[in-house]
Amino acid sequence: MKTVLLIDDDRVVRTILARTLGQNGWEIYEASDGDIGLEIAKRVRPLVIIADLLLPNMNGFQLFRALRQSPGLQSTRIIAISAKAFAGDRQRALEAGANDFLGKPVRPAELLELLSHTVIAGPDSATRSSLHEEGPVSIKFWGVRGSIPSPGPETVQYGGNTSCVEVRADGELIILDSGSGIRPLGRSLLAEFPGQPLNMTILITHTHWDHIQGFPFFLPAYQAQHQIRILGFEGAREGLARIFSSQMEGPFFPVGFKEMPSHIQVEELRQLEFSVGRVRVHAAFANHPGICVGYKLLTSAGAIVYMPDHEPALACHTVAKGDKESDTKAFARSQDDKLLEFLSGADVLILDAQYDAQEYKTHIHWGHGCVDAAVSLALRSGIKKLFLFHHDPDHNDQKLSAMAEHARGLVKAAGGTLEVEAAREGTTVEMKSALSTDIDPETLVAH
Ligand SMILES: [Zn+2]
Ligand SMILES: [Zn+2]
Repeated sequence: MKTVLLIDDDRVVRTILARTLGQNGWEIYEASDGDIGLEIAKRVRPLVIIADLLLPNMNGFQLFRALRQSPGLQSTRIIAISAKAFAGDRQRALEAGANDFLGKPVRPAELLELLSHTVIAGPDSATRSSLHEEGPVSIKFWGVRGSIPSPGPETVQYGGNTSCVEVRADGELIILDSGSGIRPLGRSLLAEFPGQPLNMTILITHTHWDHIQGFPFFLPAYQAQHQIRILGFEGAREGLARIFSSQMEGPFFPVGFKEMPSHIQVEELRQLEFSVGRVRVHAAFANHPGICVGYKLLTSAGAIVYMPDHEPALACHTVAKGDKESDTKAFARSQDDKLLEFLSGADVLILDAQYDAQEYKTHIHWGHGCVDAAVSLALRSGIKKLFLFHHDPDHNDQKLSAMAEHARGLVKAAGGTLEVEAAREGTTVEMKSALSTDIDPETLVAH
């Protein structure tokens, strides 16, 4: 049943709205002030709350904040209504937790149009497209570059967009980082699921710009019917939400983060293990400046590790300083051992391999690895497929192919069975089972 709670001290307004909504199949609850409204909301957990800004006992802004802090009401659709048409009030209502704002008198057609984008699933059950519910577990690369987008004839084969990987697994749409690759992903999602509300989770490894810069251009964020959860760990200086949204402040971008019409929730993670629907996720801290993590997604078809920015300690130490034992080498070994524990049981590893061994020697402690180190780590961890990732913006297609070939040579020399590819924009990988992965050859050649 579609439930709506109307909170307004003006009985006439409530009566008009109740009539409109009742005629359209909504079950109506009413409250005449903020206190009573909050109490009913907690008890009933309505799908939608429509509330006036100027309420007795608890004003609309206070009410929205209280609603958002109440268990089970975080994803309830809140529509603020007000006779005051000040732009600042709209902005403050959205900041306090409302999803939408309508001026009074509320026009029935406008309200019904807004509500037509609300999915009837209940506030605690996730709204998601059913189209990918039953599909295979898949990985698609939308941005494979580090540092800065690097378009041009030299990079057409592997692509020039910065970090963004889409994973569809067990009914979840999970997006790993929102570099510039999230822009074509957004367009593709809207083309694939026209008019359907989507529920997606974006896992942010860290807020370096090449991992968040595409979000202001992510079209689903501009459509009210979509739910977007952004999860990540606190930045080194300020909270995740603050840093993530600051790139959309006035001097940098014309639309503010809070003005994006979709339902966006930014959640700062504390625990290193959590769930996205049925997908269990483990995080591990990476060897990279500031707070940066890698994510391991435990799906029904195997485990995927995404570690786009990481300087493997021991392997890099060896590349830089040779095989001689030392205290620093022993410490580096202990650091890599911790990571190997994290990687254990993974099938696919998407790992930073920004440099070749020679380049690495002049980039020690920059927070990125080299191909030789990535292969060495992957071989020791027993994973099945390695994707070299976070390509240097100065590496052209020829260079990346050569690096991948070099990596395969290292595996062969070690007598390993590890498969290695340089990640390429547009490639889709299907996880057939926990034991095998297939790359879709069509998408491989299509790019
Ligand atoms: Zn990066
Ligand atoms: Zn970084």
